[in-house]
Amino acid sequence: MLSVDAAFQLICELVSARPPVQVSLYEAVGRVLAEDVVSDRDSPPFDKALMDGYACRSVDVADGKADLRVIEEVTAGHTPTQEVKAGTAIRIMTGAPLPAGADVIVRVEHTEILQESDNEVVRLNTTDMRAERNLLRQGAAMRTGETVLPEGRKLRAVEIGLLAELGRATVKVRPQPRVAVLATGDELQPVGTPLQPGQIHNSNEPMLCALLQAAGAVPVPLGIVRDNRDDLRTAIERGLREDFLILSGGVSAGKLDLVPSELANAGVEQMFHKVHLKPGKPLWCGILKAASREITANSADVPAPIDDCYVFGLPGNPVSSMVCCELFARLAIQRWQGADLTRPQQAVARLACDWQHRSDRPTYHPGWYTKTTDNASNTTEVGTVRPVQWISSADLRATVDANCVIEFPAVNGDYKGGDEVQVILW
Ligand code: AMP
Ligand code: MG
Repeated sequence: MLSVDAAFQLICELVSARPPVQVSLYEAVGRVLAEDVVSDRDSPPFDKALMDGYACRSVDVADGKADLRVIEEVTAGHTPTQEVKAGTAIRIMTGAPLPAGADVIVRVEHTEILQESDNEVVRLNTTDMRAERNLLRQGAAMRTGETVLPEGRKLRAVEIGLLAELGRATVKVRPQPRVAVLATGDELQPVGTPLQPGQIHNSNEPMLCALLQAAGAVPVPLGIVRDNRDDLRTAIERGLREDFLILSGGVSAGKLDLVPSELANAGVEQMFHKVHLKPGKPLWCGILKAASREITANSADVPAPIDDCYVFGLPGNPVSSMVCCELFARLAIQRWQGADLTRPQQAVARLACDWQHRSDRPTYHPGWYTKTTDNASNTTEVGTVRPVQWISSADLRATVDANCVIEFPAVNGDYKGGDEVQVILW
């Protein structure tokens, strides 16, 4: 049986990266940068006022007090026409360019108009006096030529704001694959409908869609397909029109586990079937090569893309489905998007309690990871992780208390609290 590492390696070899796409800033939140962003300007672009007040020469107000002649007024968006000379000041508003000759702004709260006329005089009286006060010099925050955002950064509101400051209307991001999600099983009912004896709700579809969305993909839920060849064939054909197809259920050794053979009938080449791990051993993975993707205009409500389609058959048990999707499908999606990863990112953590591990398979056990910060130095130390008490790979109830999986090797072990383990954060 294939090892987990060999499965990661195969995925990385077989999934090829798609080119980045250019999107508007308004569509960019949550997307991943596919370029290094280099500033083409200084910020601020000119010496500018941070306060409303009077721009003057600090030597004129050395003790915080002075009466100065007001020679001009400058508001944001305009430029001063005169230079501040000895004994003069220019009234200035926040955001306006600093006039030549001035090296300080005295806040309006610390001033009083003495004489209002063509010959206006302002009295300054401040205890808050030093050169460079209340202004920002050109380039103080950002310099032309500086790399301000690295490739691979997930864009939040603040990054989008910075891109806008740079005048960028669009940005290059990793592409978003469309991922069809198909749940198989005679026992399944859609959420929101009542259950008959023997039935359960289709919890995998909403869960997998949420997971895929969080992974930067566009989920395409295709509903439930029953465990018979005709329905499966039709549903698989539809699913294969997307960039990825993810099925849940029907991949183990049961009488109605028809997924692998129907995928083969649809021309999907098996990459691997069964991986040496727990939970998720029956995992199936394959590729429909671009050359075998039929584009039949009459039957296609969605035209098939011209690239390969990657297919994952996840075991139906909800926790197995989730773990396999997180470990394997997510890696494939990230590679497709152009990420330079060879396996899911791991972190080291210390066990929060003693733990007995009993399995002859490498186990990905749900746990709760907490970062620990050393208050004295304010540095993050190795985090701690607490395994959840779960009863089986059907136990979603216990898994809601998890935010990672702990990797236990394929040997029985009696771990002590404080022992170091590897975790994969969700
Ligand atoms: P299977 O992999 O099809 O043998 O299913 C394994 C177990 O997972 C069975 O108990 C199924 O009822 C359950 N299961 C399969 N698909 C789903 C689903 N979409 N939502 C919730 N449970 C499921
Ligand atoms: Mg089934």
